[in-house]
Amino acid sequence: VILFNQVNKWYGEYQALTDLSAEIKSGEVVVVCGPSGSGKSTLIRTVNRLEPIEEGQILFDGIDIHGTSTRLNQLRTRIGFVFQNFNLFPHVSVLENIMMSPVKVLGVKRQEARQHAGELLERVGLSHKANAYPAQLSGGQQQRVAIARALAMKPPVMLFDEPTSALDPEMVGEVLNVMRGLAREGMTMMCVTHEMNFAREVADTIWFMDQGKILEKSTPENFFTRPQHARAQKFLSDLH
Ligand code: ATP
Ligand code: MG
Repeated sequence: VILFNQVNKWYGEYQALTDLSAEIKSGEVVVVCGPSGSGKSTLIRTVNRLEPIEEGQILFDGIDIHGTSTRLNQLRTRIGFVFQNFNLFPHVSVLENIMMSPVKVLGVKRQEARQHAGELLERVGLSHKANAYPAQLSGGQQQRVAIARALAMKPPVMLFDEPTSALDPEMVGEVLNVMRGLAREGMTMMCVTHEMNFAREVADTIWFMDQGKILEKSTPENFFTRPQHARAQKFLSDLH
């Protein structure tokens, strides 16, 4: 579904991604890990064009994401993105947050959008909060709403950039559970996370990044028991 082909990206003089090639298949769950500053956020943000690239290509179902003729809005309706900070619209209810894009961007009828939003809220365990405002929710609840809001567009791919790292520890599990459910249902996912238990359990493939490169692409089994690179070995041993 997503193909990175010899991608290079610079911030000014600083090269943030170097000759990076990789592939995410339909239904695959990729967990991206690596030390701070290795380029994980940069990489995931290039997929929905929050960051430009200078060289190479990123293809999404064969469409050149950074192509000059690729329509950004159309692209973003098909790629769900969940950030570290939930970015809900503060002045409308939880239900409206979820309904808004389908109605405004896709032209879905309000009644249909409301019904779907209700189903999504049920799925993330927040039916009882439909009429609450974001500020009235805990961080974990807000993040689950943010996931529901992304899912409301029925994207074939979901990207997550450290969705639990701004949360109090006791709220991490409820968000990971929603992500686990999505993975189980066959959603194609790219997740940057430091939650190594989640990675071990849910990932099909782990990408280990360092200095703008993917040093290792392995199964969780191989990555956690037999990391190939010294950098990966150090990263894993520093976790304990
Ligand atoms: P973390 O685990 O801390 O989130 P990361 O792996 O997500 O780190 P990135 O945010 O992708 O790392 O940053 C990769 C490198 O690019 C870092 O050295 C960072 O300082 C640099 N960088 C990121 N964003 C910018 C920017 N907007 N301008 C200049 N340099 C940037
Ligand atoms: Mg980051």
